[in-house]
Amino acid sequence: MKSASTLLSIKELEIDYPSRDGNGRVTAVRGLNLQLEQGEIGCLLGSSGCGKSTVLRAICGFERVKSGEILLRDKVVSSITNHLPSNQRKVGMVFQDFALFPHLSVLENIAFGLQHLPSIKRSLLAMEWLNRVSLSDKADAYPHELSGGQQQRVALARAMAPEPDLILLDEPFSSLDIELRERLAGEMREILKTNHITALLVTHDQFEAFAIADKVGVMTDGKVLQWDTPYELYHKPSNRYIADFIGRGVFVKGIVLPGNKVKIELGELDLEEDRSKELGQEIDVLLRADDIQHDDNSTMQAEVVRKTFRGADFLYTLKLASGIEVFAFVPSHHDHAIGEQIGIQLVADHVVTFSD
Ligand code: ADP
Ligand code: MG
Repeated sequence: MKSASTLLSIKELEIDYPSRDGNGRVTAVRGLNLQLEQGEIGCLLGSSGCGKSTVLRAICGFERVKSGEILLRDKVVSSITNHLPSNQRKVGMVFQDFALFPHLSVLENIAFGLQHLPSIKRSLLAMEWLNRVSLSDKADAYPHELSGGQQQRVALARAMAPEPDLILLDEPFSSLDIELRERLAGEMREILKTNHITALLVTHDQFEAFAIADKVGVMTDGKVLQWDTPYELYHKPSNRYIADFIGRGVFVKGIVLPGNKVKIELGELDLEEDRSKELGQEIDVLLRADDIQHDDNSTMQAEVVRKTFRGADFLYTLKLASGIEVFAFVPSHHDHAIGEQIGIQLVADHVVTFSD
């Protein structure tokens, strides 16, 4: 459903490329739909090769569409019959490697997209954007004198300075240190939100996606499977692929009991009310690492098979009596040895099940 403030709308988008052997075409994007509201930050999340960059290039106008439509505000900018040139779309792009001009200073890089303004105004505006990304002391520096995170902020300021309707970011954190990424994702979100900028980014990293975006679309094979808030994706995945892709979890067998409950090896769980199932039906129940709690006093036991130290907690892999392995996050002061039996309890909320 489209609302008055819809900024970007993509309908049944299909894009293909000539195949490598030159004898045909390969489809990179098929039947893709999404909608971004004014001021929202969206993210396409999917593994390498699923078509993320192709979607961004198509929105920018660098790629022609085979079928479907791209609308910016209410205007069709891409379809089989329409193709608005890139420079008329009011879309800014931040590339994966930032693509700063090495021979221009930071200030000149930002001023680059403001050629239409008189020179004094251009410098003032560039300085203002530099300020907004907290880099005013770096105006005269050259890109190679900056850290990766600072270069990224310059690239962002350069894209924002001409005040586009929409900013696109292709894997904006992938060339930065892993430890930095989550913090920078938070910072970038703040800059975008403070400046009321609508943005669509793509990444293969779900922590980045969750740290920055209001809406995330899980993509595979050229399609968006579910376009939703991170919370809904995690707690209400619409299909098995997403349940598997997001978070750490395993499927265990369950039997539907009266009273809209399901019985699994570890106990009984309440089913979501709107998903009524047949009594006695066998279903698959998703158990995430946060659905199982360690409890030294519990009589229900499981064997520690593997453990990964993550700082504040361990991710334990636990073997149940039946031999099935499940995951659990356990506070890191509970340092149990591999092979040890530990007490566990089921604390699942939002029970996710699939019956096919
Ligand atoms: P992602 O950004 O998710 O890694 P891409 O959009 O870059 O994915 O690519 C999607 C698919 O399209 C891949 O199979 C890729 O090999 C193919 N592809 C991308 N660009 C081209 C191109 N210019 N010519 C031919 N095939 C391409
Ligand atoms: Mg890509």
